[in-house]
Amino acid sequence: MGIEFAQALRDQRMRGNIRRALDGLAAKRQAAFSDRDEWTRLQDQGRAIRAHALSRLPELLEALERQCTANGIRVHWAETCDQANRLVLDILRQHQTRMLVKGKSMVTEELGLNAFLEAQGIEVVETDLGELIVQLTGERPFHIIAPAIHKDRQQIAELFRARFPDIPYSEDAETLTATARRILREKFRSALAGLTGVNFAVAETGTLVLVENEGNGRMCTTAPEVHIAVTGIEKVIPRLDQLPPLLTLLTRSATGQPITTYVNLIGAPRRAGELDGPKEVHLILLDNGRSRLCADPELQATLRCIRCGACMNHCPVYTRLGGHAYGTVYTGPIGSLLEPQRQGLAVAGALADASSLCGACSEVCPVGIPIPDLLRRLRAEGIGAGAKSHVPGRGSRRKLGPATLWRLWAWLHADPSRYRLMSGLLSKTGGLLPRLVTPWNRSRLPPRLAPENLHRLARKAGFTEDCDD
Ligand code: SF4
Repeated sequence: MGIEFAQALRDQRMRGNIRRALDGLAAKRQAAFSDRDEWTRLQDQGRAIRAHALSRLPELLEALERQCTANGIRVHWAETCDQANRLVLDILRQHQTRMLVKGKSMVTEELGLNAFLEAQGIEVVETDLGELIVQLTGERPFHIIAPAIHKDRQQIAELFRARFPDIPYSEDAETLTATARRILREKFRSALAGLTGVNFAVAETGTLVLVENEGNGRMCTTAPEVHIAVTGIEKVIPRLDQLPPLLTLLTRSATGQPITTYVNLIGAPRRAGELDGPKEVHLILLDNGRSRLCADPELQATLRCIRCGACMNHCPVYTRLGGHAYGTVYTGPIGSLLEPQRQGLAVAGALADASSLCGACSEVCPVGIPIPDLLRRLRAEGIGAGAKSHVPGRGSRRKLGPATLWRLWAWLHADPSRYRLMSGLLSKTGGLLPRLVTPWNRSRLPPRLAPENLHRLARKAGFTEDCDD
């Protein structure tokens, strides 16, 4: 991971592209929440709705299944990614289709669905423009709401020239969009199955809510005969009247829009007499460790996330490194929190260290997730200290060297005479310390120790009381 961080820091073009784009998103969010009192009220409301839903998760999921089934939506449960992938494959095989049009969905990134289906001979067509671009380049989405935010127009034009050589070269954004639109129209026309994520699932009505700006989500959910919706179990909310504040928070936090261009409320498959809509709607509910997180009263807050991306747009680490440097599906502050819990501390625990703990993320989080507090908790669990939880890999990040150094540090600071001896020695010999002490110093100079310690300086300045070296 460190190498990817270093590479990202050297990529000036990518850094320029994301800085411009993320600053723009942050400014739009700022304008959308210019009324401080309204923001505080909405954030409290968002936090309360999501926290309440998570506190009743099993009961709400049962209600969602009941209501969806009554509406004609077929509900499937997947405990693991593999089970979810197989469920999708089985549905496609039942319909004997070898092509799937797909809307933007982070949960399918978590599943590794595209690679899984392609290995089974199924063509997967990403229909969100940003997703299409990263699919063509073979990359992961760079940002949770803007998958290709790291690319500029010239890069996209070059990509289209390489992948669609019959189409005239253009760097004009509208022409590029029209090209993608033409290509995708053909896919929508011939696809038998479409797959999307879900932003919220409403338990009382069995409604699947999907927000988007490009209309591709609506095409995926209405043009093909079969619609497969895949979501994590945490997306359920109790009531339909809780949706408006969450949508307001989501869209304003993500793009600064008062509302997205399309808000799709999917309640049922096509009914007799209706002219359009899929004949079958399937809902796949994925656990993949979420119920484990939900059982921890503190870490449960992670599951409140509504995937708006605001924490990324304001994070001093993400805004400099971008998403690919994290090397994980979920990136930025929420990724640093979610991935160690999802993959275990031994695998992704270092992400909890990739934070300055400045708190910008939790300040802008529309559902008030205390990201820095939870990162500190994961750091403690990584070395086996602090509150116990079910996070896999507890204690796996404890290393003998640092642990011994900290024990020595505590021993030296626990006694005034030992402390005096140490600080006196360091102020005399500090200049001899090697310049390269840790990986931290590869890009930073270590601080030089002062030639005289504070107590000595204070005594020289005439402050004698309690200034015993
Ligand atoms: S953690 Fe908060 S700010 Fe970040 S994506 Fe989730 S809801 Fe948005």
